[in-house]
Amino acid sequence: MLVFVATLLVTLSTLGVAERGMKGVIGDQEYTLLSGAASFLDDRIAARVTQVEALASSIPPQLRTDWSALRPLLAEQVRLWGADQFLNIVVFDNDGDMRLSLRALRVPPDFSARGTDYFDRVVETRRSMISAPRRSRLTGEHIVVFSAPLLDASGRVLGVLAASVDLQHSGFLRQIGTLKPGRTGYLFVMTQQGVIIDHPDESRLFQHIGMTPGGNRGTEMALGGFEGWVETPSKDGTDAIYAYKRLRTTGWILAARYPTDEAFAPMHAMRQNAFFSAVGLALAAGLLAWVLVFQLLSPLQALRDNVAAIRDDGADIEVLRDGRRDEIGELGRAFHALMAERERAESARAASEKRLRLITDNLPVLISYIDRDYRFHFGNATFEKWFGVAPPQLIGMDLAGLLGEEAAGDVAPHLEQSFAGKSVTHEIGIPLRGEPRILQATYIPDLRPDGGVAGVYALVHDTTHVKEVEEQLLQLARVDTLTGIANRRMFGEALQHALDRMRRSGKPLALAYLDIDYFKKINDTWGHGVGDEVLKEFARRLTLGVRATDTPARLSGDEFVVILEEIGSREEAERIAAKIVAAMRVPFHTSAGPVQASTSVGIALSQPGQTQEQLLAAADSALYAAKGKGRDGYAFFEERAGQGR
Ligand code: GH3
Ligand code: MG
Repeated sequence: MLVFVATLLVTLSTLGVAERGMKGVIGDQEYTLLSGAASFLDDRIAARVTQVEALASSIPPQLRTDWSALRPLLAEQVRLWGADQFLNIVVFDNDGDMRLSLRALRVPPDFSARGTDYFDRVVETRRSMISAPRRSRLTGEHIVVFSAPLLDASGRVLGVLAASVDLQHSGFLRQIGTLKPGRTGYLFVMTQQGVIIDHPDESRLFQHIGMTPGGNRGTEMALGGFEGWVETPSKDGTDAIYAYKRLRTTGWILAARYPTDEAFAPMHAMRQNAFFSAVGLALAAGLLAWVLVFQLLSPLQALRDNVAAIRDDGADIEVLRDGRRDEIGELGRAFHALMAERERAESARAASEKRLRLITDNLPVLISYIDRDYRFHFGNATFEKWFGVAPPQLIGMDLAGLLGEEAAGDVAPHLEQSFAGKSVTHEIGIPLRGEPRILQATYIPDLRPDGGVAGVYALVHDTTHVKEVEEQLLQLARVDTLTGIANRRMFGEALQHALDRMRRSGKPLALAYLDIDYFKKINDTWGHGVGDEVLKEFARRLTLGVRATDTPARLSGDEFVVILEEIGSREEAERIAAKIVAAMRVPFHTSAGPVQASTSVGIALSQPGQTQEQLLAAADSALYAAKGKGRDGYAFFEERAGQGR
């Protein structure tokens, strides 16, 4: 459309310029033609002037006042020139009286040439002249008078020879009519004052140009002295080219009117043709531009299709490198580079994600991301192992859906703390695949740049095993590794608990302190290994010899203690001590055969307000007493040291 409109505009404006140029040419042509006609007229007028001058000077001096003799001479001359040259030839004497007329005229008695330009000027200047167009006083015909003086030898004016030319009928001016422009154009002549003296419309002859209403600008300009051509509307409203030229000889204005319609008819025809050719050309140009644009755009279209195919159908990006060597090819290659880069980045990201996934999926921990609605956005493969929920199923699931309402309720307060921006670690017991487990969860807030928390990264360990090991370690720390009974630490705890219970129940307890007699000797005799065997058997017999609620313990080396709870009396305690002493007399079966051993026992009954150290010291003191009494027996702690049986 743009090319079409542009072409049309350019063509039409060029046409406009050409038309103006052509108008100029036509106008100039008309003016040139008119100038030719004007010089023709000038020549004609000058020729008449010359004729009249020649006639006047050819008259012999004696005939210049002999009017009757002059007539045949003039008549002969006129005949030679041709009868139609002049309407009449008259001679006035120097008073202005008509002395001779070639045509027979009825001349009134008071008729005088005085007062006319053709007489007065000639008398005054003694030179020939051309009168203004005038109406004959004798015949009423429209004439112009060529006059020349008749002079005597001394140059005095004797008379005036006047030759009249009929403007209306003689064709004096009409001959130039053949030079009229075109078919309907015409020439006309007017005086400097605007009186029309030649016009194809005879009704306008000898009328002032301004007498017909209207009038055109060109004529006004011409009366003001303008020479040249102008295009202007004429009286009847139609446009015409007017050209004006002044006659050198008379000052009359020769004018030509050439109706624009006719003058420019070929141009109008040409304009029409040119317009249709312009429309055709513009259409063709528009069509060509259309085709060209489509042709130019088709690789771009192909590029767009390729990009769409890559995006929507996963086509190979190689289609972008079509080898074109133009800008579109460059664009394709730029796209290719961009997409290749993107693909590389994408595969690097995918590889990194895969790596990360591999790591997280194979870690024996739960790794997940939980949003503020307690919904999972991510979870590793451990979720499937622990809960039977595969990672894709986990996404969008909420915490209660995974753990149940109760466990989710336990977790919620910790999660809330993390949503408040804190890293939180807590433990929770949850059954996994039917087994009770202890899990340790750590929540790390996902802080946004504005400081808000978008969600929480959760890391959960199964600490059940660790707890068990911890428990075992704790147990180990309280058990004597050789004999399997309580060690000193556990004994301390047990004694404390027993004392607490005693305080509550009011039922006293007794503490028996034991030491194997001459144990060094057993070691020395049988070796340390056998000694150990004896120690183990000693502990076993000790455990069997007391109630299940009583706590036997090995304090160190060959020293043992037993807490005897709810001992009603000293006798009861002594009975137990005696039983233990007896049990140890039985030979010990060892790898080296039977070994004979015995033990000494010190017994102390707890006293109100007594500390465990005091109680232990009392039992130890009783043991000392038992050893002192010869071993293989027991002693009861008395307030006075050393007492016992
Ligand atoms: P006494 O009748 O006065 O108690 O005499 P004794 O030889 O038993 O002397 P004491 O109780 O002072 O000696 C204990 C010995 O027990 C000393 C040490 O060599 C031995 N012993 C300590 N711990 C162990 C152990 O774990 N295994 C073995 N085989 N011997 C131990
Ligand atoms: Mg001993």
